[in-house]
Amino acid sequence: MLSHGVRPSPTGSVARRVDLPEDAIPTRWYNIMADMEHLPAPPLHPATGRPVAPEDLAPIFPRALIEQEMCAERWVDIPAPVREVYRTWRPTPLYRALGLERALGTPARIYYKYEGASPAGSHKPNTAVAQAYYNVQAGVRRLATETGAGQWGSALAFACSQFGLACTVYMVRVSYEQKPYRRSLMQVWGAEVYASPSRRTAAGREVLETSPDSPGSLGIAISEAVEDAATHADTNYSLGSVLNHVLLHQTVIGLEAKQQMALVGEYPDVVIGCIGGGSNFGGISFPFLMDRLQGRRMVRALAVEPTACPTLTKGALRYDFGDVAGLTPLLQMYTLGHDFVPPGIHAGGLRYHGDSPLVSRLYEDGLVEAKAYGQVGVFEAAVQFARAEGFLPAPESAHAVKAAIDEALAAKEQGKERVILFNLSGHGSFDLAAYDAYLAGKLEDYEYPEQLVAAALERLPKVPGR
Ligand SMILES: *Cc1c(COP(=O)(O)O)cnc(C)c1O
Repeated sequence: MLSHGVRPSPTGSVARRVDLPEDAIPTRWYNIMADMEHLPAPPLHPATGRPVAPEDLAPIFPRALIEQEMCAERWVDIPAPVREVYRTWRPTPLYRALGLERALGTPARIYYKYEGASPAGSHKPNTAVAQAYYNVQAGVRRLATETGAGQWGSALAFACSQFGLACTVYMVRVSYEQKPYRRSLMQVWGAEVYASPSRRTAAGREVLETSPDSPGSLGIAISEAVEDAATHADTNYSLGSVLNHVLLHQTVIGLEAKQQMALVGEYPDVVIGCIGGGSNFGGISFPFLMDRLQGRRMVRALAVEPTACPTLTKGALRYDFGDVAGLTPLLQMYTLGHDFVPPGIHAGGLRYHGDSPLVSRLYEDGLVEAKAYGQVGVFEAAVQFARAEGFLPAPESAHAVKAAIDEALAAKEQGKERVILFNLSGHGSFDLAAYDAYLAGKLEDYEYPEQLVAAALERLPKVPGR
């Protein structure tokens, strides 16, 4: 009687929420590098242009994370103390979006994984907890990092509080001023927070010299945090996205989602995530892409970005710096140029100039698709979702919501079934000012102009011999 072979819940109806017991938290992360046909080209040292050696990274990262960055093993054990902290909020629930399906009148079945259930309200603690753990193990006393909208800073502040580490956060100045509550949350968890550019670092002072009113950018804040870590022996640096080890840690999302989909007899046709640096998208999609890379399933993976920061859809695959000052290694990634200063859209977490080298390579090889949306349509989708499902999405996550709705409407148009899975990467309770602006009709769309991309790519670092 049940349509589509979806297994009923114990009460006889179609399951709306699929939960796993605590002991179903994965014991290993999945490393997609073991299955990729082409790996990204190696990171290069910013001064010599030679491939980065593990010793080059030792001043700012613990050995365990450097090894994971370059790891070839398919499965990496999750340390017991990390799983112990994960148990605070994991496994996160998987929902069937029955309310949204009804509102859309679609034959598609829509599922979402809810990462807003963590203490910090997003997926970011999945890697923050792991990074804090490995740093404590290595004898580090303090972590320095940057944050844009404050999501990563709050995730790391929370993780450091769990392991007794000090935490210093360089917060992009506009957000520091516009999002005081995220700053308070970091301070509640014991972090010191500075508006970036700050006078605490040479990188910050240099920017302030030429532009004293600089609103800051993620690239500038990264320069400050890296400099802080490199110049203090007891301090390491921590990055919330982009790098291989970060995406590795985030695969708990997709590994749990696979178990949950299997419990209701489902497998997605398409897996969707919003993309800033690529960590939540990689986290939900890589365990499914494993099946595609190993030739078992044909699953689509769709990354969704803002038209204001169209890294995959308008950028190019090049070697570029991760920061403005050019202190970080050169990464081969889709980029808009490291001096990209993004327009002030509300999805603060999606304003980074680059993307994960792993996602970039998979996109180049046709294994990942990408789509860009303007923010007005994104907020419209978020409000429709909140009215149908109750949860208020973070503006970043709302990009994935919009794409899931479009997939469901396309299925309706074609009169076809389709199983859609997306990651609801965070809740929007700290973003009500953005919702206010949307409801008051004050949001505008912004297309980042093609000429600016072309000009920025001209300014990319020259890489010897490549
Ligand atoms: C930071 C953030 C993102 C974007 O970062 P990724 O590394 O691309 O996942 C997306 N959603 C939320 C809720 C975030 O906090």
